[in-house]
Amino acid sequence: MDNCIFCKIVNKEIPGNIAYEDDVIIAFHDLEPQAPVHVLIVPKEHIPSLYEVTFDHMEVMGWLMAKVKDIAAELGLENGYRLVCNCGEDGMQTVKHLHFHLLGKRKMQWPPG
Ligand code: 5GP
Ligand code: ZN
Repeated sequence: MDNCIFCKIVNKEIPGNIAYEDDVIIAFHDLEPQAPVHVLIVPKEHIPSLYEVTFDHMEVMGWLMAKVKDIAAELGLENGYRLVCNCGEDGMQTVKHLHFHLLGKRKMQWPPG
């Protein structure tokens, strides 16, 4: 997708600090980390947000979710972590390519702001 910053990272047109990659997903460190560990787990396919996820995406979504624990383990998050997906305007989504924030290495707060 033209002009999508995460597609550009997927396609290696701009550099990303990559933590994990396979054929389906990529995980890279957030530019403005909100925790000592903050990576974005992103399907390589351009899906704009959770709004657009359908049953056609079962394989990629299942793949992504099944990989979270492995990426977390690789990053040393054995004490736990938080997985966040911001969706739409009220959800404060700023980048319109589906992504999950994996945050860890600090105690999270609840409820989130
Ligand atoms: P959102 O607000 O859409 O849920 O999250 C977007 C995230 O992408 C933000 O945490 C922001 O810091 C991060 N981000 C935006 N542009 C870039 C970029 O070019 N590279 C990386 N690594 N992270 C980015
Ligand atoms: Zn994209």
